[in-house]
Amino acid sequence: MSPARVPGVRWWFLPGFAAGLSLLLTACGGASADSDDGIRVTLVTPIVSNPTPTVIPGTTPTPIVPPELVISTFEVHQAGAVLVSVTGDITGGTASFLGRNYKLAKGSQSMFAFVAVDTEDPVGPQPLRVDVTLKNSSKVTLQDTVHVVRTDWTVDSLEFTDEQTQALLDPKVVADELAMLKTIYGGVTPEKLWTGAWQVPVMGALTARYGEQRSINGSVPSGHHGGTDFGAAEGTPVVATNSGRVVLARQLKVRGTMVIIDHGGGLFSGYAHLSKTLVTEGQLVASGDPIAEVGNTGLSTGAHLHWEMASQGILLDALRFTDGTNGF
Ligand SMILES: [Zn+2]
Repeated sequence: MSPARVPGVRWWFLPGFAAGLSLLLTACGGASADSDDGIRVTLVTPIVSNPTPTVIPGTTPTPIVPPELVISTFEVHQAGAVLVSVTGDITGGTASFLGRNYKLAKGSQSMFAFVAVDTEDPVGPQPLRVDVTLKNSSKVTLQDTVHVVRTDWTVDSLEFTDEQTQALLDPKVVADELAMLKTIYGGVTPEKLWTGAWQVPVMGALTARYGEQRSINGSVPSGHHGGTDFGAAEGTPVVATNSGRVVLARQLKVRGTMVIIDHGGGLFSGYAHLSKTLVTEGQLVASGDPIAEVGNTGLSTGAHLHWEMASQGILLDALRFTDGTNGF
């Protein structure tokens, strides 16, 4: 998908420049740099207009490429993500959405963050705010509105053996694994390790969507399936959905043998219930590289791949990274 560029992109500075700032403000040239993955600029809505700057006589204003806010979509589903990029001469920034803050990471042509929407986040129009610092140390705030669209979750009934149920119901086993994953998924590597499009990591039939609520051995449906499941024969190759660094390749109790890839900027992909891994922790992988083989390890009722995506600790619908509904 390639959203059309909306003309008339403008930029404004908030009050509070350092005294004597010799910044030349020109009419907006609409910097034409692409966002980090090649998506075009969409729209910037200013919140405060700029007072006329003062140029101190005898000084030469330093030209600054104005910041532009680039967002991948104005409509995002629950469990979707918005790629937020800011181009221009900026040194850092923070995106804020739905009460969460995302430090911008350095990309090849911009600074970016994958802003997440959780399964139960409120639907409707929500403000997106990005505070950035320019190379001359001045601060700029950009904002826009993104509409969160409701997702209707499906329900699945699962049957586990006594042994599996025992493992599942041992709260310490589940809690320890979740805590470890939360620590990994909550990290932010401030550089871009992903590139280009995302790909489905295995050839197989979709057997359980992200977000599905579960009834286990007849229990009341609860929770949300944190990944996307594909049924495939044991030994089927699993490839990296995108480039990044392997941060986990080991055996866990619930998710079985698992690989996690850090894609930078707080975004991770996880691959669970594997029969074997082909990578080691710390290794850099390219998009499409074989990283493991499908298996039936951990709490699993048959050979399949459980594929997770997480942005700064929030599990997201991985298929929205490949079906275009996130706008990238
Ligand atoms: Zn699963």
